[in-house]
Amino acid sequence: RARADTYVWFSQTQTDEDDGDKLQLENDLREALAAGDQLFLRFQPQFRLSTASLIGFEALVRWQHPTHGELSPIDFIDLAEDAGLIIALGDAVAHLACREIAALRADIGFDLPVGVNISPRELAAERFADRILGCLKQHGLPASMLTLEVTENVLIDSPALAAETLGRLRRLGVRIAIDDFGTGYASLSYLNRFPVDVLKIDKQFVRDILRDRNDCAIVNAIIGMAHNLELEVVAEGVENAEQMSLLKSLGCDTLQGYLLGRPMPGSDIAAFLRKTERI
Ligand code: C2E
Ligand code: CA
Ligand code: CA
Ligand code: CA
Repeated sequence: RARADTYVWFSQTQTDEDDGDKLQLENDLREALAAGDQLFLRFQPQFRLSTASLIGFEALVRWQHPTHGELSPIDFIDLAEDAGLIIALGDAVAHLACREIAALRADIGFDLPVGVNISPRELAAERFADRILGCLKQHGLPASMLTLEVTENVLIDSPALAAETLGRLRRLGVRIAIDDFGTGYASLSYLNRFPVDVLKIDKQFVRDILRDRNDCAIVNAIIGMAHNLELEVVAEGVENAEQMSLLKSLGCDTLQGYLLGRPMPGSDIAAFLRKTERI
């Protein structure tokens, strides 16, 4: 009995401490969003296999925290959702992405679209589509320069709203990607009813694709199904040449991963382009 009490006491102390940390981080995030100079993006290149050429980037958010240093989105996206800050965060990310990609476009003179991750709560928020369109307009970008990456879980909570919002944006030229495809709980039947252009195969399936026959079979099936539905397939998390050639032989369209480029600051993109036009 003494041991059980000790355990309870210990775990409660832990929880209180964790809650305190969480609250502190929430306040820090609120301040960061107000100050506007701590969140920044890294851009990871995407390559089309058939032409071996660079075709765009995914924007990935980072937080330069005043005392904790650089934080990854896994440390603060859920927190932002719980604290009601995800809309402000999403707006900040969309503006940063559009600003940097518009500057790049002016610099290089051709279009390299950007993918932006959208959390389910952001998508469900009022006027989401208007805010995205306003952002594109403010930065002088055509809708075709933006891909929204949403997870299949958006379809579970409010499929009709998600379909309507994304459908409107897609009719105006924004591309829609289903992120982390295969890891969520939505049924496959939504795919032909839902406004989608791209399926992104999660890196968990790519990681062991050479060793694990099941993973290979899953990736093969996703690619076949996507192509039957006239969707483009992106594989993420490609780390070595063997994975790349297997994905190529399976007919995958586009690759993203450390092998081809790590997420980089926007200011490094021009130099990256000079160095790497082809893979
Ligand atoms: P995701 O959308 O699936 O993004 C891919 C993640 O894999 C990124 O992690 C990226 O840095 C990492 N990655 C890329 N290539 C490789 C590789 O070859 N090997 C391995 N092991 N990893 C690779 P990151 O940047 O830490 O982002 C984690 C997740 O946070 C993202 O997963 C996305 O769900 C979320 N996220 C990132 N930026 C945003 C954002 O602006 N808004 C929202 N709502 N979520 C975001
Ligand atoms: Ca993504
Ligand atoms: Ca993923
Ligand atoms: Ca994810």
